[in-house]
This record gives sequence, C-alpha cells and structure tokens, in this order.
Amino acid sequence: MAEPTNVSEQHDYDVVVVGAGGSGLRAAIAAHEAGARTAIVCKSLLGKAHTVMAEGGIAAAMGNVWPEDNWQVHFRDTMRGGKMLNNWRMAQLHAQEAPERVWELEEWGALFDRTDEGKISQRDFGGHRYARLAHVGDRTGLEMIRTLQQRAVDLGIDVFMECTVTRLLLDGQRVAGAFGYWRETGSFLTFRAPAVVLATGGIGKSFQVTSNSWEYTGDGHAMALWAGASLLNMEFVQFHPTGMVWPPSVKGILITESVRGEGGVLRNSEGKRFMFDYIPEFFKAETADNEQEADAWYADHKNNRRPPELLPRDEVARAINSEIKAGRGSPHGGVFLDIASRRSAADIKRRLPSMYHQFKELGDVDITKEPMEVAPTCHYVMGGIEVDADTQAAKVSGLYAAGEVSGGMHGSNRLGGNSLSDLLVFGKRAGESAASYVAGLPSRPAISSRDVQAATDEALAPFSNPGGENPYAVMKDLQEHMQSLVGIIRKGEELELALKEIDRLKERAQHVSVKGSGRSYNPGWHTALDLRAMLTVSECIARAALERKESRGGHTRDDYPQTDPDWGKVNLVLRERRGVIEIAKQPLPVMPDDLKTLFEETH
Ligand SMILES: Cc1cc2nc3c(=O)[nH]c(=O)nc-3n(C[C@H](O)[C@H](O)[C@H](O)COP(=O)(O)OP(=O)(O)OC[C@H]3O[C@@H](n4cnc5c(N)ncnc54)[C@H](O)[C@@H]3O)c2cc1C
Repeated sequence: MAEPTNVSEQHDYDVVVVGAGGSGLRAAIAAHEAGARTAIVCKSLLGKAHTVMAEGGIAAAMGNVWPEDNWQVHFRDTMRGGKMLNNWRMAQLHAQEAPERVWELEEWGALFDRTDEGKISQRDFGGHRYARLAHVGDRTGLEMIRTLQQRAVDLGIDVFMECTVTRLLLDGQRVAGAFGYWRETGSFLTFRAPAVVLATGGIGKSFQVTSNSWEYTGDGHAMALWAGASLLNMEFVQFHPTGMVWPPSVKGILITESVRGEGGVLRNSEGKRFMFDYIPEFFKAETADNEQEADAWYADHKNNRRPPELLPRDEVARAINSEIKAGRGSPHGGVFLDIASRRSAADIKRRLPSMYHQFKELGDVDITKEPMEVAPTCHYVMGGIEVDADTQAAKVSGLYAAGEVSGGMHGSNRLGGNSLSDLLVFGKRAGESAASYVAGLPSRPAISSRDVQAATDEALAPFSNPGGENPYAVMKDLQEHMQSLVGIIRKGEELELALKEIDRLKERAQHVSVKGSGRSYNPGWHTALDLRAMLTVSECIARAALERKESRGGHTRDDYPQTDPDWGKVNLVLRERRGVIEIAKQPLPVMPDDLKTLFEETH
C-alpha cells in the first residue's frame, strides 16, 4: 500500500513513458500492447517533439534501391561511422530490425515516397554505403509522428501533455514513479508506476548554437543520473555540419543532410569545393578524390567512391570549421552549400520543399538560385543513459531508456537517418521490456511522502529567493561557455575552465529568483527548473571531454588530435555519488568473431 503524499493529484500506471517523440510513442504502444496500463507524459503538446522536425529519413537496409544492401552492411556502416565505439549488440539489433519497423509504420498508415516500381523510396546520406533512408520528401519526422500518434490515440493510451517530469521517485533501489508539474497551472502531480521509460530526447539547449528546440534541456539524462543510473560517453556531442548562419535570429536551425544527398556541394569563399582536401585515411578507399568522379556518382550512384560531401558528419563539420578558421568563410561566418547550380528549380522544390521554404521565409534566400550559408550546429548527443542492449534497462530496476536519451548505439558519431530507426527499434524493445518487468513483479513499489515533499520543495525553491538573479541570465552564460569552451574543437585548459565556470553557474542557479508570485504560465520558473538538468548534463559533457585524451567522432581535442587505439577499447561511464559526479573507464563489450569478420571483407 502506497503512503499518502502531500500532492493531491496522483495517477497509477504500470508503465509511465516520459516523452512523446518517436521513441516514447513507440515504447508506449509496445507497453500497451503487452498489456500494461500505460501513460505518456510530455513537456509540450503531443506531436511537437523533436522527431517531428526530422527531415531526411529513416535508415533501414530494405534493399529497395540497392538489392545488395542488407543488415550486415548497415551494421558495418554504423560501427564505422561511430569509429567502432558503438555497443555492437545495439548496432546489430538496430540494423536487423529497422526494416521491419519501417514496414510496420507503413501498415499503420505512413505514406512514404515511392520508387518507380512502387516500393518505398530510399535516399543517400553520409556514411551509408547504399541509399537506404526511407523518406517523405524532407518531412519524414512529421509522417512518423503523425502515424505513431494516431496509433497511440486509437489504442486509448492516456497522454499528459504540457506536463514536465522533474524527478524520478524510488522505493529503495527500484523505480516507484515520477514527480512533475503542469506547465499551464504550475500544480504538482505524481505518477505511481513500477516502470518508467525515459524517452526525453537530447541536450542541445546547453549550447548557444543548436538545431534543438526549447525542450531539449537534458532532463532525462539528469533524472537518470540523480536516480542512480549511469551515463555513457557524454563527451560525444554531434555538431551537424550544416546549420543556418544568417540572419542571427535563425542561427543554428538545421539544413538537412538531404541537400548534400541530393547533390549539394560545399564551397569556400574562393569557390573551391574544399571537401576533397579533408578525406581522412579511414575513408580514402571509398571516397572520390576529384570532382569528376564525385559527380559521376551523383549521376548514376553506381560508382563505389562517394562524394566527400557525404563523409560522416564529424568529418564534414570539422572541415567546415577549418575553412572558416582559415579565413575562407562566407560573409556571415559560414561556408557555401550550393544546390542551385546542381539541380533544377523544380527538382529542388519537389525533393527539398521544407528547405526551399525555410530559406525563403527565414533568410530571404532562394535556394534554387543562390547558395546557402552554413556552419556547424549542435544537433545530437551520442552519449546517454547506459542500457542493456536487448531490453533497454538502465542500471536502476524499473528504469528504461530509449531514443536519443540512451547511449551506446551510435558510438562516437551517429550516421544521419540512424536516429529515427533507433527510436522505432529500441522504443519497441523498451516498452515490451518495461511491461514484462512489471508483469513479473512480486510486489509493487511504494512512493514515499518524504520524497514527494523533497521534490515539491526543490521545485518551489526559486520562489523563495527574492531579489535573486534572473534564471535566463544563468542559462545564457551556460550556453556561451559550453559553446566556446566545450564546442566542436576542445582543449584541456579550456575544459578545465569550463568546469570551473559550471561550478560558479551552479552556485548562481541556487539563488535565481522568479518574477511574479504565481506558478501558472510562469516561463521564468520553468527555466529555473530546467537549469538544474542543463548544468548536470553540461558538467557530464565537460568532465568526459576532459578525460578522453584523444580525438574520435564527435569529440575533437586540439591537444590530442590523434585517434588512440587504447581509447578505442573503453567507454567513459559517469555516476553521481552524494552529489559528486564520478567518471570511470569501462571496457567495451567484446564483439563476437562472426561480426568481426564483416570488417575484414572489402566491399
Ligand atoms: C531539425 C532536426 C532534423 C532531424 N532530422 C533527422 C533525420 O532526418 N533522421 C534521423 O534519423 N534523425 C534526425 N534528427 C534527429 C532525431 O529527430 C532525434 O534524434 C529524434 O527525433 C529524438 O527522438 P526521441 O524520441 O529520442 O525524442 P524527441 O523526439 O526529442 O522527444 C522528446 C520528448 O520528451 C519530452 N520531454 C523532454 N523532457 C521532458 C520532461 N522533463 N518531462 C516530460 N516530457 C519531457 C518532450 O516534450 C518530447 O515529447 C533530426 C533532429 C532535428 C532537430
């Protein structure tokens, strides 16, 4: 029997899924179908998660365009893209199950673009050997969310929207539920549930220039850590090569990789197609080293050596960064991405309609006539909650994680399109595992009124600091420090400075005060609460980045520019003990021999 708590609104479920992006919706559908009483809780309106913003497509080796494609090649590409730091078992399950998950979406009503033979069309993306992204123009995420949302609503799954979860509640060492507040009224509520699936997405808001929207403050990462779970490889943050740079109000907004997949090329201020100067040894064999060869590939996609613009994102982002630093940038501090001279206006409008409208409306640029100015933008976090590959169980009983908030799958660098497929594959697995965990429980955990009181006090603290600092000022300073000290190129002394600054910001965050006495419609208060997670996650990123003394994937150290084979054998694991974040090396799981042989074959 649960203890009564001081919060009057309480809900009982078997499984509570925090997050309504692709992974949360897929997890909730799976948990519900497995017989669990399931709820979805999300910070914004249902349908407004990051997933809806995904443009390019869902990576799955369906072989619709290239019959040679199969899960083994997809697995190999994913591991190579992640510089072999991926959890091999997750990469294997992902490659094996992604096609089935895409066909399932289609059965549930998703309308994909088609090939001439009427199969689901698949497009090229960086690091994928074959064209394998199932897509709907450049609005794939919208179709995916529409389909999953409709299915979840049809099944009658309860949804709590505009409701932020701030703490997980425990009974001893196991999950007992979650605590949160309604954003509109500010009133508190608790969920009693033996299993919680975290599907809260990314952390991009900790950086100044990001493609992420306001919701992505790393809440799930932080809540898992505070509850005793571990985070993996938080140093690996993906800076997508192509974000908008002008006008300032739209800086960071994403320009999909599909632009390069459709033939767009990168040039510097001298008009040079500079990516040929940045082909790393690792990808030399499969990358075209001159324009003629690269363009031949665009013409028939049969040439095995792909254009260097389609190298994995970490490589392209670093190259752009170097060109800008060398003074060969565009007028507003980017480089040029040119599709206008490569495709007809009709093609561009048909294949990239969102990009056409985005630039026309936000930048007054007609991309069918002129190049775009682009620069890297913080986009995705490869690091995340450490989970079991098969079940998505975190290190705390009853806690599961899926999607961007979980770690391991993408190693040190994610390939484009591999997130949407990850959401489907591991969302389903997380939901099923959570339901089966609850079904097997001999007794249900209880939430304690003391913990609920502590969560309430913590949430109300910003109201008891009259005359304190504005939370937005602290957030802005954090974003600036993360951008300049923990950004795309890192140095030991800058990371040490970042950690000192984060300590100072933590102190300042203790004393922020919120304007207005009420909790309803109070965005300053919401920011004050978000800050806690942002600071925790930022510290994890900076600590891990300082610890990893090599450059690999999304983590580039100016003082350790080489990839070090010894560092390729370990993950960095972060845990919180008595308020202190600790970091440890952990050996990578050993890949079985039959999978190892895939890397010996020459394709
Ligand atoms: C512009 C853009 C384009 C992209 N294009 C592609 C693409 O083409 N292909 C691809 O594979 N990937 C793409 N990505 C990446 C991909 O979209 C994301 O990684 C993915 O959608 C994350 O899904 P998710 O389910 O993990 O979380 P999200 O879709 O980010 O959803 C997170 C959910 O958690 C909720 N939430 C967060 N914190 C809380 C809290 N404290 N309490 C309650 N709810 C909370 C949010 O409200 C939201 O509902 C793109 C990303 C962006 C930003």
